[in-house]
Amino acid sequence: MDAKERLRSLPSMDVLLGLPVVESFFSTIGRETVKYVLSETLDLFRQELREGKGEGVSAESVIARALPLLTRRGEYSLIPVVNATGVVIHTNLGRSCLAADAVEAVISSARSYSTLEFNLEEGKRGLRTDHVEWLLCRITGAEAGLVVNNNAGAVLLALAALCRGKEVIVSRGELVEIGGSFRIPEIIAFSGARLVEVGATNRTHLRDYKNAITENTAALLKVHPSNFRMEGFTASVSREELAALAEEYGVRFIEDLGSGTLLDLSKYGLAGEPTVRECIQRGVHLVTFSGDKMLGGPQIGGIVGKKPLVDALRTYPLSRALRVDKMTLAALEATLRLYLQGREGEIPTHAMLSAGPETLKSKAQRLLERLRRECPAGRFSLTEVEDAVGGGAFPAEKMEGWGVSFSADGWGTAGNIQRLLRTAKPAVVAGARANEALFHVRTLLDGDEERIAAAFRYILHDRGDAGCTSSSHTADMPDIR
Ligand SMILES: *Cc1c(COP(=O)(O)O)cnc(C)c1O
Repeated sequence: MDAKERLRSLPSMDVLLGLPVVESFFSTIGRETVKYVLSETLDLFRQELREGKGEGVSAESVIARALPLLTRRGEYSLIPVVNATGVVIHTNLGRSCLAADAVEAVISSARSYSTLEFNLEEGKRGLRTDHVEWLLCRITGAEAGLVVNNNAGAVLLALAALCRGKEVIVSRGELVEIGGSFRIPEIIAFSGARLVEVGATNRTHLRDYKNAITENTAALLKVHPSNFRMEGFTASVSREELAALAEEYGVRFIEDLGSGTLLDLSKYGLAGEPTVRECIQRGVHLVTFSGDKMLGGPQIGGIVGKKPLVDALRTYPLSRALRVDKMTLAALEATLRLYLQGREGEIPTHAMLSAGPETLKSKAQRLLERLRRECPAGRFSLTEVEDAVGGGAFPAEKMEGWGVSFSADGWGTAGNIQRLLRTAKPAVVAGARANEALFHVRTLLDGDEERIAAAFRYILHDRGDAGCTSSSHTADMPDIR
């Protein structure tokens, strides 16, 4: 058979589209997308036939190859997962889960028209951030506040609006990289400001800042070294001293606080992180922070501080490009109201961080019993684990947690077990230790025990390939920042 003849053996699109199994995808992804996927698959076969691979192609073999892709395209991609990693603010898994009140607020703001930019009393235009500004001020003690898309945006906006074309002084110990694409030197360059580095990596003194101030200086910038800790022979300058220096020379004092802790968390055994309120009290002019880290709300960048500065940011054109959506604002208002009412225990991030060993141990015990029923052949045991705050907060702090370890004959390595759980329905992201998968219970939400049990059922019964021991997949825990 020559190449031409072999190519003629390819089934026609019409034949493929007429098959019932193919037709069933019309309702999920539309006929045109089905056609597109099939034609890509046909192209692959055409290529192979040209290269002399295979004699001919049946409709069945085209469908067999196209089916996984059609199925994948027919399913939602952004879906809930069970976080059994013990990392509370897990950036890859969406950081904070919203409190029930915040979820309600999101739903109602999404469903209907709202007062987003409308003042009901006056019947005219209002400001979208008015809904939360007073709350931010109440909770942090600041004069004014603003909310933008995220903290990276907040830092960029502050630098662009206040420091563009001028110099910003930063300690060399604080020129940090936060996750893939947020590096302080780069964000300063992007804002149009000029970075002036002072001090040494481990030690920066007040005189270093002082000597660097010129008539071109716009601001001193303090950056929270969120994701690492420096130990040993180190020195940095206190906020009070920097604030006094800034006052003396008439420059701004801006702090990128990162995690945005609104409450003193030492009662959870997490000490050492200043709250936004403390930074304001100590004289920082403008503090920026994330909404979905320790605050436990939606993704936002909070900016609080002196009113003239916040107003300058509010009216700077870039702020329009960074503005937040109504669902985000609704979630933020509801979350901040919980703080106002002393109900922050209802914020999942706080509940997880404050859970004590006894609570966690009995939660782990319950999970253990539940999973033993689901998978009698499994080797489960109750075990102490190390949990983490994540999200670049308290990097040195390991929290004592409890969990359930699991391995079983035929499930392969820990990496393989993790992969089976990740690709189960529902999806479960578990930790690992040696040859076992680990379910950390700190980060489990209501109903997650049952979801993990369901994932076991899926692996054991619906999929039936738990016996596959291909261990080419190692534990590929993604970057948690
Ligand atoms: C997390 C973090 C950021 C980025 O905040 P996003 O809200 O993710 O944009 C910036 N600076 C610091 C110090 C951080 O910890």
